[in-house]
Amino acid sequence: MKEELLSIKGIGPGREKQLHKLGITSVSHLLTYFPRSYEDRRNIYTIKELDNGMTGGVVGTVVAVQEKRPRPRLSILEITIADNSGAMKIVLFNQGYKKNFYKKGQRLYAYGKADIQYGMMQMNTPQIENLGPDALPDTGIVPIYSLVDGVSQFVVRSSVRNWFATNGVLPEVLPPELINQDGWMSRYDAFKAMHFPDSSNRYEEARYQLAYEELFIMQAGLALLRNKEQVHAGPKMEPDGKLMKSLEEALPFALTGDQRRALEEISRDMQDERPMQRLLQGDVGAGKTVVAALSLVKAIENGYQSAIMAPTEILASQHYEGIKEMCKHLPIHIELLTGATTKKEKERIYEELASGDIHMIIGTHSLIQDKVDFHNLGLVVIDEQHRFGVEQRAALQRKGKYPHVLIMTATPIPRTMTLSVYGDLAVSLIKEMPPGRKPVKTYVVDSSYKERLRAFFQKEMEAGHQIYVVCPLVEESEKLDLQAAEEVYIELKEYFYKTFEVGLVHGRMNSQEKEEVMERFNNGDIHLLVSTTVIEVGVNVPNATIMCVEGAERFGLSQLHQLRGRVGRGDAQAYCVLISDSKNDISQERLKLMEATHDGFELAEQELLLRGSGQLFGLAQSGLPDLRVANIIKDIEILVNAREDVLQYIGERGIENLEKHMKPELEKRFGEKFLRILYN
Ligand code: ADP
Ligand code: MG
Repeated sequence: MKEELLSIKGIGPGREKQLHKLGITSVSHLLTYFPRSYEDRRNIYTIKELDNGMTGGVVGTVVAVQEKRPRPRLSILEITIADNSGAMKIVLFNQGYKKNFYKKGQRLYAYGKADIQYGMMQMNTPQIENLGPDALPDTGIVPIYSLVDGVSQFVVRSSVRNWFATNGVLPEVLPPELINQDGWMSRYDAFKAMHFPDSSNRYEEARYQLAYEELFIMQAGLALLRNKEQVHAGPKMEPDGKLMKSLEEALPFALTGDQRRALEEISRDMQDERPMQRLLQGDVGAGKTVVAALSLVKAIENGYQSAIMAPTEILASQHYEGIKEMCKHLPIHIELLTGATTKKEKERIYEELASGDIHMIIGTHSLIQDKVDFHNLGLVVIDEQHRFGVEQRAALQRKGKYPHVLIMTATPIPRTMTLSVYGDLAVSLIKEMPPGRKPVKTYVVDSSYKERLRAFFQKEMEAGHQIYVVCPLVEESEKLDLQAAEEVYIELKEYFYKTFEVGLVHGRMNSQEKEEVMERFNNGDIHLLVSTTVIEVGVNVPNATIMCVEGAERFGLSQLHQLRGRVGRGDAQAYCVLISDSKNDISQERLKLMEATHDGFELAEQELLLRGSGQLFGLAQSGLPDLRVANIIKDIEILVNAREDVLQYIGERGIENLEKHMKPELEKRFGEKFLRILYN
């Protein structure tokens, strides 16, 4: 199959450049650039035929263009079009820059919901296509693609159409046993029906088939990966011994039932010579760290070294402080290794790791640097897994000879997700919270509550508690966001300057500066901490009772839940205040969910439904292929089928055949990185 876009009729250098803007650089990309939605344009209406409330398309000629500015931040562009039957207004909001796109006399196709406003037919922000003097709009069920400025529907649509017009086959990728099923269409037909369905049934069939294909490939990749991880013998350990017992006895609390069960599962795995691959899953504050600490100590009492890797320096040093304190009565040597460790210290640590002097190392991705060599690494614990890619995980694993691996995640991952992202990684779940936790009272308010909130802050701080105020940070405008956070900081600082200490921590600070501020918050010198989203998942300040989030609609539900988990760690009642001025119904609905539920799993599921999986876990960053057709929640049944089929195929034909057959496609979807892990 020719992959050059230029090989498609109608694509020259100009169009090729436009397609590049959409990230489309090959024919495969183009074909998998599936429509975001479809429009039923089997009918084109005259303006007169439009009824109030009806959705449809009309062709008309521009007769007037007018921009209105009723308020400083609001621009309304009104384009009046007419056909032989009447006239209609097209209204675009805050798109004043398009004023000159629409000239009198130009023919347009507009598709959208028609409403009568002030006695005239009107469409608000319809799909608009410029038509030449006598061109007809596309008819039928028409694909609508996601676009960026400067690229039109027409360019994508005609490129795809032209490819199908001059090609008749698409190579199959699934094993032949699977594609020769009843009612299975060819891959070519399935792709074509995704772009240009002739009925909704046909579309559903095609979607099912391609979702299945995608999930089959993913599951096949995971099966190969798992196979690779499990063929070698790992460190087989003895039943729980003295060190573990001594650690558990010294804890100031008893383990909860869930913690105990998780620990038993981990212990059992570590006593097997097959390397453990287990996910320890539990909501924020559920007490995963203790379980991890006991597991790390288990490796040590068996004569192995153990390591725990956290995604940030702050988290790593909190683990270090916490675990060191827990283990202070044990004869074990624990060290911390992060980017902030001095060069001299690092050299010493490298040496002592290689000689086996250090029993337990806690750190960031500094742990996977080339210079780090272990004497005999027996257990790797990875905290907050979703921030690490498959590759980084593998890199740490490689530091040992098939060590056991425990992945901890505070982001509650629905079963559907663990199935798809981790294959059938074993899961230990801590659902039960340590005793005495009160749910964090959560409120969604708008900024008119500012004064009341300050009074509330004052009261809590007078009672000796501490407060987080988080301001959103999105990548596109980091600078502006930083300004916003600084403004909030200055306001609060001025407001409380006589009585309380207000601090600021943000993403532009270097790690030492951050650490200093966090340290001051930790030991109570700072009462109110304003931050951009750098409050690291896992930061533990039990005295903090208010989590206030500005611009809350800009955060994901899981993120908000993580933030909320920063408070309510002590005995006092804690509060989460979500400030949002968004008038968007969906945003409001999402935020209301935060008031209604404290179940991180439920929130994560909702998030998956609302935003798709990529957003939540960064599939791309996890090293797995992004899903273009399948939706991990909605298509759970397809996923389960695909998984079973992969297992059945392996059972009947062996994993070598699966590998042989799927390798080219795996390489394409998972990328080289994945193969490097597989075949290193
Ligand atoms: P996670 O890592 O799951 O978010 P942590 O391990 O940081 O949670 O635990 C949160 C807090 O709960 C810590 O202060 C810890 O000491 C405490 N904790 C853990 N287990 C228990 C328990 N069984 N009983 C009481 N407190 C506990
Ligand atoms: Mg934690």
